[in-house]
Amino acid sequence: MTAAREHPIGYEVLRNPQLNKGTAFTEEERRKYRLEGLLPPAVTTIELQVARRRAEIAALDNDLQKYLVLSDLQSRNETLFYAVVMSDLATYMPLVYTPTVGEACQKFAHIFRQARGLYLPISARGRLRELLQNWPEREVRFIVVTDGERILGLGDLGSGGMGIPIGKLALYTACAGVPPQYCLPVVLDVGTNNQALLDDPLYQGLRRHRVRGDEYMAFVDEFVVAVQQLYPNCCIQWEDFASLNAFPILERYRDKICTFNDDIQGTAGVALAGIYAALRLTAQPLTEQRFLFLGAGSAATGIAELISRAMARQGLDIAAARRRNALFDINGLVVTSRTDLADFQKPFAQYRAPISTFVEAVRALRPTGIIGVSTVPKLFTREVIAAMAEINHRPIIFPYSNPTSRSECTAEEAYRWSDGRAIFASGSPFPPVEIAGRRFVPGQGNNVYIFPAMGMAVFATEAQRITDDLFILAAAAVADQVTDADLASGLIYPPQGRILETSLRVTERIATGIFELGLARVPRPADVGALIRSRAYRPRYREI
Ligand code: NAD
Repeated sequence: MTAAREHPIGYEVLRNPQLNKGTAFTEEERRKYRLEGLLPPAVTTIELQVARRRAEIAALDNDLQKYLVLSDLQSRNETLFYAVVMSDLATYMPLVYTPTVGEACQKFAHIFRQARGLYLPISARGRLRELLQNWPEREVRFIVVTDGERILGLGDLGSGGMGIPIGKLALYTACAGVPPQYCLPVVLDVGTNNQALLDDPLYQGLRRHRVRGDEYMAFVDEFVVAVQQLYPNCCIQWEDFASLNAFPILERYRDKICTFNDDIQGTAGVALAGIYAALRLTAQPLTEQRFLFLGAGSAATGIAELISRAMARQGLDIAAARRRNALFDINGLVVTSRTDLADFQKPFAQYRAPISTFVEAVRALRPTGIIGVSTVPKLFTREVIAAMAEINHRPIIFPYSNPTSRSECTAEEAYRWSDGRAIFASGSPFPPVEIAGRRFVPGQGNNVYIFPAMGMAVFATEAQRITDDLFILAAAAVADQVTDADLASGLIYPPQGRILETSLRVTERIATGIFELGLARVPRPADVGALIRSRAYRPRYREI
Protein backbone atom coordinates (compact mmCIF):
# COMPACT_ATOMS: atom_id res chain seq x y z
CA MET A 1 0.00 0.00 0.00
CA THR A 2 1.38 3.48 -0.85
CA ALA A 3 1.76 6.24 1.75
CA ALA A 4 -0.90 8.29 -0.01
CA ARG A 5 -3.42 5.47 0.43
CA GLU A 6 -2.77 5.29 4.18
CA HIS A 7 -3.75 8.91 4.52
CA PRO A 8 -7.44 9.83 4.33
CA ILE A 9 -8.38 11.11 0.90
CA GLY A 10 -11.30 12.83 -0.82
CA TYR A 11 -14.44 13.13 1.27
CA GLU A 12 -12.73 11.41 4.22
CA VAL A 13 -10.65 14.59 4.46
CA LEU A 14 -13.45 17.05 3.74
CA ARG A 15 -15.79 15.40 6.24
CA ASN A 16 -13.24 15.26 9.03
CA PRO A 17 -13.56 18.55 10.98
CA GLN A 18 -9.98 18.27 12.29
CA LEU A 19 -8.49 17.86 8.79
CA ASN A 20 -10.91 19.89 6.72
CA LYS A 21 -9.72 23.26 5.38
CA GLY A 22 -12.58 23.64 2.90
CA THR A 23 -11.74 26.02 0.09
CA ALA A 24 -8.39 26.83 1.72
CA PHE A 25 -6.80 23.58 0.51
CA THR A 26 -3.95 24.54 -1.81
CA GLU A 27 -3.75 23.17 -5.32
CA GLU A 28 -0.94 20.86 -4.24
CA GLU A 29 -3.00 19.51 -1.32
CA ARG A 30 -6.00 19.07 -3.60
CA ARG A 31 -3.88 16.91 -5.93
CA LYS A 32 -2.23 15.00 -3.10
CA TYR A 33 -5.44 14.19 -1.20
CA ARG A 34 -7.60 13.71 -4.32
CA LEU A 35 -9.80 16.70 -3.63
CA GLU A 36 -9.73 18.07 -7.19
CA GLY A 37 -13.24 18.41 -8.48
CA LEU A 38 -14.68 18.01 -4.99
CA LEU A 39 -14.16 21.71 -4.24
CA PRO A 40 -14.83 24.85 -6.29
CA PRO A 41 -11.54 25.75 -8.03
CA ALA A 42 -10.73 29.10 -6.35
CA VAL A 43 -8.31 28.67 -3.43
CA THR A 44 -9.16 31.05 -0.59
CA THR A 45 -7.24 32.17 2.48
CA ILE A 46 -8.45 31.50 6.01
CA GLU A 47 -8.95 35.27 6.39
CA LEU A 48 -11.38 35.24 3.48
CA GLN A 49 -13.15 32.20 4.87
CA VAL A 50 -13.52 33.97 8.22
CA ALA A 51 -14.93 37.05 6.47
CA ARG A 52 -17.46 34.90 4.60
CA ARG A 53 -18.73 33.20 7.77
CA ARG A 54 -18.83 36.48 9.70
CA ALA A 55 -20.95 38.10 6.99
CA GLU A 56 -23.29 35.10 6.94
CA ILE A 57 -23.74 35.25 10.72
CA ALA A 58 -24.15 39.04 10.80
CA ALA A 59 -26.98 38.81 8.27
CA LEU A 60 -29.05 36.59 10.57
CA ASP A 61 -31.34 38.35 13.02
CA ASN A 62 -31.86 35.50 15.46
CA ASP A 63 -29.19 34.43 17.98
CA LEU A 64 -30.24 30.79 17.99
CA GLN A 65 -29.79 30.71 14.20
CA LYS A 66 -26.33 32.21 14.66
CA TYR A 67 -25.57 29.56 17.29
CA LEU A 68 -26.60 26.86 14.81
CA VAL A 69 -24.46 28.27 12.00
CA LEU A 70 -21.47 28.28 14.36
CA SER A 71 -22.27 24.80 15.64
CA ASP A 72 -22.49 23.44 12.08
CA LEU A 73 -19.18 25.11 11.30
CA GLN A 74 -17.58 23.44 14.34
CA SER A 75 -18.74 20.07 13.05
CA ARG A 76 -17.40 20.81 9.57
CA ASN A 77 -14.15 22.70 10.01
CA GLU A 78 -12.86 23.05 13.57
CA THR A 79 -9.99 25.40 12.75
CA LEU A 80 -12.24 27.81 10.88
CA PHE A 81 -14.80 27.68 13.73
CA TYR A 82 -12.13 28.80 16.20
CA ALA A 83 -10.71 31.34 13.75
CA VAL A 84 -14.17 32.93 13.48
CA VAL A 85 -14.91 32.83 17.22
CA MET A 86 -11.45 34.12 18.15
CA SER A 87 -11.63 36.90 15.54
CA ASP A 88 -14.08 38.78 17.79
CA LEU A 89 -14.68 37.10 21.14
CA ALA A 90 -16.93 39.85 22.46
CA THR A 91 -19.36 39.16 19.60
CA TYR A 92 -19.13 35.37 19.39
CA MET A 93 -18.84 34.34 23.05
CA PRO A 94 -22.50 35.22 23.82
CA LEU A 95 -23.50 33.13 20.79
CA VAL A 96 -21.37 30.09 21.59
CA TYR A 97 -22.09 30.22 25.32
CA THR A 98 -24.31 32.31 27.63
CA PRO A 99 -26.86 33.66 27.06
CA THR A 100 -27.65 31.92 23.72
CA VAL A 101 -26.61 28.45 24.90
CA GLY A 102 -29.48 28.54 27.42
CA GLU A 103 -32.07 28.60 24.66
CA ALA A 104 -30.08 25.99 22.73
CA CYS A 105 -30.24 23.63 25.74
CA GLN A 106 -33.96 24.24 26.19
CA LYS A 107 -34.57 23.35 22.54
CA PHE A 108 -31.74 20.84 22.31
CA ALA A 109 -33.73 17.89 20.97
CA HIS A 110 -35.61 20.12 18.54
CA ILE A 111 -32.52 21.66 16.95
CA PHE A 112 -30.37 18.51 17.13
CA ARG A 113 -28.27 17.93 14.02
CA GLN A 114 -25.22 15.92 14.92
CA ALA A 115 -23.97 14.28 18.10
CA ARG A 116 -20.93 15.79 19.84
CA GLY A 117 -19.37 14.61 23.10
CA LEU A 118 -20.23 11.55 25.19
CA TYR A 119 -23.63 10.65 26.61
CA LEU A 120 -23.25 8.30 29.55
CA PRO A 121 -26.67 6.98 30.64
CA ILE A 122 -27.17 5.34 34.00
CA SER A 123 -28.63 2.40 32.09
CA ALA A 124 -25.01 1.68 31.04
CA ARG A 125 -23.86 1.36 34.66
CA GLY A 126 -20.98 -1.10 34.91
CA ARG A 127 -19.88 -0.31 31.34
CA LEU A 128 -18.78 3.33 31.54
CA ARG A 129 -15.16 2.49 30.80
CA GLU A 130 -16.27 0.71 27.63
CA LEU A 131 -18.36 3.73 26.54
CA LEU A 132 -15.51 6.14 27.29
CA GLN A 133 -13.27 4.01 25.09
CA ASN A 134 -15.57 4.78 22.17
CA TRP A 135 -14.27 8.36 22.25
CA PRO A 136 -11.84 8.57 19.31
CA GLU A 137 -9.09 10.65 20.99
CA ARG A 138 -6.54 8.64 22.98
CA GLU A 139 -5.48 11.49 25.22
CA VAL A 140 -8.14 13.47 27.06
CA ARG A 141 -6.89 16.17 29.39
CA PHE A 142 -10.05 18.09 30.15
CA ILE A 143 -13.61 16.95 30.71
CA VAL A 144 -16.57 19.23 31.36
CA VAL A 145 -19.43 17.12 32.71
CA THR A 146 -23.01 17.89 33.71
CA ASP A 147 -26.01 15.85 34.78
CA GLY A 148 -28.27 18.55 33.36
CA GLU A 149 -30.17 19.18 36.57
CA ARG A 150 -29.54 22.92 37.02
CA ILE A 151 -28.69 24.38 33.64
CA LEU A 152 -27.81 28.07 34.15
CA GLY A 153 -30.89 29.48 35.89
CA LEU A 154 -33.16 27.35 33.71
CA GLY A 155 -33.53 24.25 35.84
CA ASP A 156 -33.60 20.59 34.85
CA LEU A 157 -32.99 20.19 31.12
CA GLY A 158 -32.00 16.52 31.25
CA SER A 159 -29.69 15.41 28.45
CA GLY A 160 -30.31 18.75 26.69
CA GLY A 161 -27.75 20.05 29.21
CA MET A 162 -25.08 18.73 26.79
CA GLY A 163 -25.07 22.20 25.20
CA ILE A 164 -23.28 23.48 28.30
CA PRO A 165 -20.15 21.24 28.26
CA ILE A 166 -19.90 21.73 24.48
CA GLY A 167 -20.12 25.53 24.70
CA LYS A 168 -17.93 25.75 27.75
CA LEU A 169 -15.13 23.69 26.25
CA ALA A 170 -15.24 25.86 23.13
CA LEU A 171 -14.43 28.77 25.45
CA TYR A 172 -11.55 26.90 27.12
CA THR A 173 -10.02 26.80 23.66
CA ALA A 174 -11.09 30.17 22.29
CA CYS A 175 -10.39 32.20 25.44
CA ALA A 176 -7.23 30.58 26.78
CA GLY A 177 -5.89 28.22 24.14
CA VAL A 178 -6.59 24.75 25.60
CA PRO A 179 -6.14 22.59 22.45
CA PRO A 180 -9.56 21.22 21.41
CA GLN A 181 -8.37 17.67 20.71
CA TYR A 182 -7.79 17.15 24.47
CA CYS A 183 -11.28 18.31 25.48
CA LEU A 184 -14.29 16.06 26.04
CA PRO A 185 -17.89 17.17 26.79
CA VAL A 186 -19.88 14.64 28.84
CA VAL A 187 -23.47 14.26 30.04
CA LEU A 188 -24.21 11.87 32.89
CA ASP A 189 -27.82 11.00 32.09
CA VAL A 190 -29.55 9.90 35.28
CA GLY A 191 -33.05 10.81 34.04
CA THR A 192 -34.96 14.06 34.35
CA ASN A 193 -37.72 15.38 36.58
CA ASN A 194 -38.81 17.85 33.90
CA GLN A 195 -42.25 16.56 32.93
CA ALA A 196 -42.39 18.66 29.75
CA LEU A 197 -39.26 16.84 28.53
CA LEU A 198 -40.57 13.44 29.56
CA ASP A 199 -43.75 14.19 27.58
CA ASP A 200 -41.88 15.48 24.53
CA PRO A 201 -41.63 12.77 21.84
CA LEU A 202 -38.41 14.36 20.57
CA TYR A 203 -36.64 14.23 23.97
CA GLN A 204 -33.38 12.28 23.58
CA GLY A 205 -32.45 11.38 27.14
CA LEU A 206 -33.50 8.52 29.39
CA ARG A 207 -37.26 8.63 29.93
CA ARG A 208 -37.24 8.20 33.66
CA HIS A 209 -37.15 10.28 36.83
CA ARG A 210 -33.77 11.20 38.28
CA VAL A 211 -31.86 8.59 40.20
CA ARG A 212 -30.84 9.83 43.65
CA GLY A 213 -28.83 8.75 46.66
CA ASP A 214 -26.30 5.91 46.76
CA GLU A 215 -27.16 4.67 43.29
CA TYR A 216 -26.44 8.13 41.87
CA MET A 217 -23.15 8.48 43.73
CA ALA A 218 -22.03 4.97 42.71
CA PHE A 219 -22.59 6.01 39.10
CA VAL A 220 -20.53 9.18 39.54
CA ASP A 221 -17.81 7.10 41.24
CA GLU A 222 -17.73 4.68 38.33
CA PHE A 223 -17.34 7.61 35.94
CA VAL A 224 -14.46 9.13 37.91
CA VAL A 225 -12.65 5.79 38.22
CA ALA A 226 -13.03 5.06 34.50
CA VAL A 227 -11.70 8.52 33.59
CA GLN A 228 -8.75 8.09 35.95
CA GLN A 229 -7.90 4.70 34.47
CA LEU A 230 -8.12 5.81 30.85
CA TYR A 231 -6.81 9.37 31.18
CA PRO A 232 -4.73 9.72 34.37
CA ASN A 233 -3.80 13.35 33.61
CA CYS A 234 -7.36 14.44 33.00
CA CYS A 235 -9.02 17.29 34.91
CA ILE A 236 -12.76 16.87 35.54
CA GLN A 237 -14.80 20.06 35.70
CA TRP A 238 -18.31 19.65 37.18
CA GLU A 239 -20.90 21.92 35.68
CA ASP A 240 -24.53 22.81 36.42
CA PHE A 241 -25.29 20.10 38.95
CA ALA A 242 -27.99 20.93 41.51
CA SER A 243 -26.54 21.98 44.87
CA LEU A 244 -27.65 18.77 46.54
CA ASN A 245 -25.16 16.90 44.35
CA ALA A 246 -22.67 19.65 43.48
CA PHE A 247 -21.28 20.05 46.99
CA PRO A 248 -20.99 16.36 47.94
CA ILE A 249 -19.33 15.58 44.59
CA LEU A 250 -16.79 18.37 44.98
CA GLU A 251 -16.05 17.39 48.58
CA ARG A 252 -15.67 13.74 47.58
CA TYR A 253 -13.02 14.33 44.92
CA ARG A 254 -11.33 17.71 45.46
CA ASP A 255 -8.46 16.26 47.51
CA LYS A 256 -8.16 13.07 45.47
CA ILE A 257 -8.06 14.11 41.83
CA CYS A 258 -7.54 17.19 39.67
CA THR A 259 -11.05 18.65 39.69
CA PHE A 260 -13.18 21.71 40.27
CA ASN A 261 -16.76 22.88 40.10
CA ASP A 262 -17.08 26.04 38.07
CA ASP A 263 -20.49 27.01 39.49
CA ILE A 264 -19.01 26.98 42.96
CA GLN A 265 -15.32 27.84 42.59
CA GLY A 266 -15.19 29.59 39.19
CA THR A 267 -18.13 31.80 40.08
CA ALA A 268 -16.51 32.55 43.38
CA GLY A 269 -13.28 33.50 41.63
CA VAL A 270 -14.96 35.87 39.23
CA ALA A 271 -17.07 37.50 41.94
CA LEU A 272 -13.95 37.99 44.07
CA ALA A 273 -12.21 39.51 41.04
CA GLY A 274 -15.09 42.00 40.73
CA ILE A 275 -14.82 42.81 44.42
CA TYR A 276 -11.05 43.35 44.23
CA ALA A 277 -11.62 45.76 41.33
CA ALA A 278 -14.55 47.48 43.12
CA LEU A 279 -12.33 48.05 46.15
CA ARG A 280 -9.90 49.93 43.92
CA LEU A 281 -12.81 52.37 43.39
CA THR A 282 -13.88 52.62 47.04
CA ALA A 283 -10.32 52.42 48.42
CA GLN A 284 -11.60 50.23 51.26
CA PRO A 285 -9.98 47.03 52.57
CA LEU A 286 -11.59 43.65 51.89
CA THR A 287 -11.66 42.83 55.59
CA GLU A 288 -14.10 45.70 56.25
CA GLN A 289 -16.67 44.58 53.68
CA ARG A 290 -20.00 42.96 54.48
CA PHE A 291 -21.86 41.09 51.77
CA LEU A 292 -25.47 39.97 51.63
CA PHE A 293 -26.32 37.27 49.10
CA LEU A 294 -29.75 36.82 47.58
CA GLY A 295 -29.76 33.04 47.19
CA ALA A 296 -27.98 30.42 49.27
CA GLY A 297 -27.19 27.77 46.66
CA SER A 298 -23.97 26.65 44.95
CA ALA A 299 -23.03 30.06 43.63
CA ALA A 300 -23.81 32.00 46.83
CA THR A 301 -22.04 29.67 49.24
CA GLY A 302 -19.12 29.21 46.84
CA ILE A 303 -18.60 32.97 46.58
CA ALA A 304 -19.16 33.51 50.30
CA GLU A 305 -16.56 30.86 51.16
CA LEU A 306 -13.91 32.19 48.79
CA ILE A 307 -14.42 35.78 49.99
CA SER A 308 -14.14 34.49 53.57
CA ARG A 309 -10.89 32.68 52.78
CA ALA A 310 -9.52 35.77 51.02
CA MET A 311 -10.47 37.83 54.11
CA ALA A 312 -8.79 35.24 56.33
CA ARG A 313 -5.61 35.52 54.26
CA GLN A 314 -5.67 39.22 55.12
CA GLY A 315 -5.79 38.51 58.84
CA LEU A 316 -9.43 37.94 59.80
CA ASP A 317 -10.39 34.86 61.75
CA ILE A 318 -12.21 32.53 59.31
CA ALA A 319 -15.39 32.32 61.44
CA ALA A 320 -15.53 36.11 61.74
CA ALA A 321 -14.91 36.38 57.99
CA ARG A 322 -17.84 34.05 57.27
CA ARG A 323 -20.12 36.15 59.46
CA ARG A 324 -19.39 39.06 57.10
CA ASN A 325 -21.01 37.03 54.31
CA ALA A 326 -24.73 36.63 55.05
CA LEU A 327 -27.13 34.59 52.93
CA PHE A 328 -30.81 35.18 52.24
CA ASP A 329 -32.82 32.48 50.47
CA ILE A 330 -36.40 31.58 49.63
CA ASN A 331 -37.11 31.15 53.37
CA GLY A 332 -35.51 34.40 54.51
CA LEU A 333 -32.20 35.31 56.11
CA VAL A 334 -30.03 32.30 56.87
CA VAL A 335 -29.90 32.39 60.68
CA THR A 336 -28.73 29.80 63.19
CA SER A 337 -32.25 29.10 64.49
CA ARG A 338 -33.41 27.78 61.11
CA THR A 339 -33.90 24.05 60.93
CA ASP A 340 -33.93 23.73 57.13
CA LEU A 341 -30.26 24.55 56.51
CA ALA A 342 -27.97 22.29 54.50
CA ASP A 343 -24.45 21.65 55.84
CA PHE A 344 -22.89 23.91 53.20
CA GLN A 345 -25.06 26.85 54.38
CA LYS A 346 -24.47 26.51 58.11
CA PRO A 347 -21.05 28.23 58.29
CA PHE A 348 -22.72 31.47 57.13
CA ALA A 349 -25.73 31.37 59.46
CA GLN A 350 -26.10 34.63 61.40
CA TYR A 351 -26.74 34.79 65.14
CA ARG A 352 -29.85 36.95 64.68
CA ALA A 353 -33.61 36.84 64.78
CA PRO A 354 -35.19 35.69 61.50
CA ILE A 355 -35.78 38.33 58.79
CA SER A 356 -38.25 37.57 56.05
CA THR A 357 -37.79 40.32 53.44
CA PHE A 358 -34.61 41.15 51.60
CA VAL A 359 -34.95 44.90 52.04
CA GLU A 360 -35.30 44.46 55.80
CA ALA A 361 -32.17 42.30 55.76
CA VAL A 362 -30.32 45.07 53.90
CA ARG A 363 -31.40 47.62 56.51
CA ALA A 364 -30.46 45.35 59.40
CA LEU A 365 -27.09 44.06 58.15
CA ARG A 366 -25.97 47.23 56.33
CA PRO A 367 -23.94 45.36 53.68
CA THR A 368 -21.39 47.12 51.49
CA GLY A 369 -22.41 44.82 48.63
CA ILE A 370 -25.35 42.68 47.55
CA ILE A 371 -24.86 39.70 45.26
CA GLY A 372 -27.85 38.16 43.47
CA VAL A 373 -27.60 34.43 42.75
CA SER A 374 -31.22 33.44 43.29
CA THR A 375 -32.25 32.58 39.69
CA VAL A 376 -35.26 34.90 40.27
CA PRO A 377 -35.51 38.17 38.32
CA LYS A 378 -36.36 41.64 39.66
CA LEU A 379 -35.72 40.97 43.37
CA PHE A 380 -33.25 43.87 43.56
CA THR A 381 -36.15 46.32 43.69
CA ARG A 382 -35.98 50.08 43.71
CA GLU A 383 -36.42 49.94 47.49
CA VAL A 384 -33.47 47.55 47.88
CA ILE A 385 -31.13 49.59 45.71
CA ALA A 386 -32.19 52.88 47.29
CA ALA A 387 -31.51 51.35 50.72
CA MET A 388 -28.03 50.25 49.56
CA ALA A 389 -27.35 53.74 48.21
CA GLU A 390 -28.44 55.26 51.51
CA ILE A 391 -26.03 53.06 53.47
CA ASN A 392 -23.05 53.28 51.08
CA HIS A 393 -21.49 56.03 49.04
CA ARG A 394 -20.61 53.43 46.36
CA PRO A 395 -22.87 50.40 46.88
CA ILE A 396 -21.67 47.19 45.23
CA ILE A 397 -24.60 45.71 43.27
CA PHE A 398 -23.96 42.37 41.53
CA PRO A 399 -27.10 40.73 40.07
CA TYR A 400 -25.43 37.52 38.85
CA SER A 401 -28.40 35.30 37.95
CA ASN A 402 -28.35 34.07 34.36
CA PRO A 403 -29.65 34.33 31.73
CA THR A 404 -30.60 38.00 31.22
CA SER A 405 -34.28 37.23 31.86
CA ARG A 406 -33.38 36.08 35.41
CA SER A 407 -31.18 39.02 36.39
CA GLU A 408 -32.12 40.46 39.80
CA CYS A 409 -32.10 43.95 38.22
CA THR A 410 -30.92 45.64 35.03
CA ALA A 411 -27.87 47.89 34.78
CA GLU A 412 -30.12 50.85 34.11
CA GLU A 413 -32.15 50.18 37.27
CA ALA A 414 -29.04 49.86 39.43
CA TYR A 415 -27.51 53.11 38.15
CA ARG A 416 -30.77 55.05 38.09
CA TRP A 417 -31.98 54.03 41.55
CA SER A 418 -28.57 54.75 43.11
CA ASP A 419 -28.12 58.13 41.38
CA GLY A 420 -25.29 56.69 39.33
CA ARG A 421 -23.29 55.61 42.41
CA ALA A 422 -23.65 51.82 42.11
CA ILE A 423 -20.59 49.72 41.34
CA PHE A 424 -22.35 47.31 39.07
CA ALA A 425 -21.64 43.97 37.43
CA SER A 426 -24.09 41.35 36.24
CA GLY A 427 -24.06 37.69 35.25
CA SER A 428 -25.46 38.31 31.77
CA PRO A 429 -24.41 41.26 29.61
CA PHE A 430 -26.20 44.62 29.61
CA PRO A 431 -25.55 47.40 27.09
CA PRO A 432 -24.00 50.71 28.20
CA VAL A 433 -26.36 53.05 30.01
CA GLU A 434 -26.66 56.81 29.63
CA ILE A 435 -28.03 58.67 32.69
CA ALA A 436 -28.06 62.46 33.04
CA GLY A 437 -25.40 62.79 30.38
CA ARG A 438 -23.08 60.20 32.00
CA ARG A 439 -22.24 56.97 30.23
CA PHE A 440 -21.81 53.79 32.28
CA VAL A 441 -20.31 50.60 30.86
CA PRO A 442 -21.62 47.64 32.89
CA GLY A 443 -19.20 44.78 33.48
CA GLN A 444 -20.20 41.15 33.12
CA GLY A 445 -19.05 38.93 35.98
CA ASN A 446 -18.67 36.13 33.54
CA ASN A 447 -16.89 33.01 34.78
CA VAL A 448 -15.06 33.12 31.47
CA TYR A 449 -12.47 35.40 33.10
CA ILE A 450 -11.48 32.51 35.34
CA PHE A 451 -12.26 29.01 34.08
CA PRO A 452 -10.44 29.00 30.71
CA ALA A 453 -7.31 30.37 32.40
CA MET A 454 -7.61 27.77 35.17
CA GLY A 455 -8.02 25.07 32.52
CA MET A 456 -5.03 26.26 30.52
CA ALA A 457 -2.82 26.53 33.62
CA VAL A 458 -3.82 23.01 34.68
CA PHE A 459 -3.25 21.71 31.15
CA ALA A 460 0.20 23.28 30.78
CA THR A 461 1.46 22.31 34.25
CA GLU A 462 -0.35 18.96 34.48
CA ALA A 463 -1.51 20.03 37.94
CA GLN A 464 -2.41 17.27 40.39
CA ARG A 465 -4.97 19.31 42.36
CA ILE A 466 -6.87 22.58 42.11
CA THR A 467 -7.04 24.42 45.42
CA ASP A 468 -9.03 27.47 46.59
CA ASP A 469 -5.77 29.41 46.82
CA LEU A 470 -5.47 29.12 43.05
CA PHE A 471 -8.90 30.76 42.64
CA ILE A 472 -7.91 33.63 44.96
CA LEU A 473 -4.75 34.05 42.89
CA ALA A 474 -6.80 34.00 39.68
CA ALA A 475 -9.24 36.60 41.04
CA ALA A 476 -6.43 39.00 41.93
CA ALA A 477 -4.85 38.44 38.51
CA VAL A 478 -8.14 39.28 36.72
CA ALA A 479 -8.65 42.43 38.80
CA ASP A 480 -5.10 43.53 37.97
CA GLN A 481 -6.02 43.47 34.26
CA VAL A 482 -8.69 46.16 34.77
CA THR A 483 -7.20 49.51 33.73
CA ASP A 484 -7.89 52.83 35.45
CA ALA A 485 -9.71 53.90 32.25
CA ASP A 486 -11.96 50.80 32.53
CA LEU A 487 -12.71 51.67 36.15
CA ALA A 488 -13.51 55.29 35.27
CA SER A 489 -16.30 54.13 32.96
CA GLY A 490 -17.68 51.81 35.64
CA LEU A 491 -16.19 48.67 34.11
CA ILE A 492 -14.79 46.40 36.84
CA TYR A 493 -13.84 43.50 34.59
CA PRO A 494 -11.43 43.65 31.65
CA PRO A 495 -13.31 44.24 28.36
CA GLN A 496 -14.37 40.95 26.81
CA GLY A 497 -12.68 41.89 23.55
CA ARG A 498 -9.36 41.52 25.43
CA ILE A 499 -10.25 38.16 26.95
CA LEU A 500 -7.57 36.08 25.22
CA GLU A 501 -4.78 38.42 26.31
CA THR A 502 -6.29 38.67 29.82
CA SER A 503 -6.63 34.90 30.10
CA LEU A 504 -3.04 34.25 29.07
CA ARG A 505 -1.80 36.64 31.78
CA VAL A 506 -4.13 35.09 34.36
CA THR A 507 -3.01 31.62 33.22
CA GLU A 508 0.61 32.57 33.80
CA ARG A 509 -0.15 33.73 37.36
CA ILE A 510 -2.13 30.57 38.16
CA ALA A 511 0.53 28.34 36.60
CA THR A 512 3.21 30.09 38.66
CA GLY A 513 1.06 29.40 41.76
CA ILE A 514 0.76 25.74 40.76
CA PHE A 515 4.56 25.46 40.54
CA GLU A 516 5.04 27.30 43.85
CA LEU A 517 2.53 25.09 45.66
CA GLY A 518 4.32 21.99 44.35
CA LEU A 519 1.23 20.81 42.47
CA ALA A 520 2.72 20.60 38.96
CA ARG A 521 3.61 17.32 37.27
CA VAL A 522 6.00 18.96 34.78
CA PRO A 523 9.33 20.56 35.73
CA ARG A 524 9.21 24.30 36.33
CA PRO A 525 10.59 26.14 33.29
CA ALA A 526 12.66 29.32 33.55
CA ASP A 527 9.89 31.23 31.79
CA VAL A 528 6.35 30.15 32.76
CA GLY A 529 4.79 32.58 30.24
CA ALA A 530 6.78 30.99 27.42
CA LEU A 531 5.55 27.53 28.50
CA ILE A 532 1.93 28.74 28.36
CA ARG A 533 2.36 30.39 24.97
CA SER A 534 4.06 27.30 23.52
CA ARG A 535 1.17 25.06 24.62
CA ALA A 536 -1.65 27.42 23.56
CA TYR A 537 -3.82 26.50 20.58
CA ARG A 538 -3.91 28.85 17.59
CA PRO A 539 -6.53 28.49 14.84
CA ARG A 540 -4.12 27.96 11.95
CA TYR A 541 -4.33 25.28 9.29
CA ARG A 542 -1.61 22.70 9.63
CA GLU A 543 0.03 20.29 7.23
CA ILE A 544 -2.12 17.18 7.10
P1 NAD B 1 -29.08 27.19 43.16
O1 NAD B 1 -30.32 26.61 42.63
O2 NAD B 1 -28.07 26.31 43.80
O3 NAD B 1 -29.47 28.32 44.23
C1 NAD B 1 -30.53 29.22 44.10
C2 NAD B 1 -30.79 29.83 45.47
O4 NAD B 1 -31.72 30.90 45.32
C3 NAD B 1 -31.39 28.87 46.49
O5 NAD B 1 -30.71 29.04 47.72
C4 NAD B 1 -32.83 29.35 46.63
O6 NAD B 1 -33.36 29.15 47.94
C5 NAD B 1 -32.68 30.82 46.37
N1 NAD B 1 -33.95 31.42 45.94
C6 NAD B 1 -34.83 30.96 45.03
N2 NAD B 1 -35.89 31.78 44.96
C7 NAD B 1 -35.67 32.76 45.84
C8 NAD B 1 -36.40 33.89 46.24
N3 NAD B 1 -37.59 34.17 45.70
N4 NAD B 1 -35.88 34.69 47.18
C9 NAD B 1 -34.69 34.42 47.73
N5 NAD B 1 -33.93 33.36 47.39
C10 NAD B 1 -34.43 32.55 46.47
O7 NAD B 1 -28.42 27.97 41.95
P2 NAD B 1 -26.91 28.48 41.83
O8 NAD B 1 -26.05 27.45 41.22
O9 NAD B 1 -26.46 29.03 43.12
O10 NAD B 1 -27.09 29.62 40.73
C11 NAD B 1 -27.88 30.74 40.99
C12 NAD B 1 -27.85 31.71 39.84
O11 NAD B 1 -26.57 32.26 39.74
C13 NAD B 1 -28.19 31.12 38.48
O12 NAD B 1 -29.09 31.98 37.81
C14 NAD B 1 -26.91 31.11 37.77
O13 NAD B 1 -27.06 31.32 36.37
C15 NAD B 1 -26.19 32.26 38.39
N6 NAD B 1 -24.76 32.15 38.27
C16 NAD B 1 -24.10 33.17 37.68
C17 NAD B 1 -22.76 33.10 37.51
C18 NAD B 1 -22.04 34.23 36.88
O14 NAD B 1 -22.65 35.07 36.33
N7 NAD B 1 -20.75 34.29 36.92
C19 NAD B 1 -22.08 31.97 37.92
C20 NAD B 1 -22.79 30.92 38.53
C21 NAD B 1 -24.13 31.04 38.71
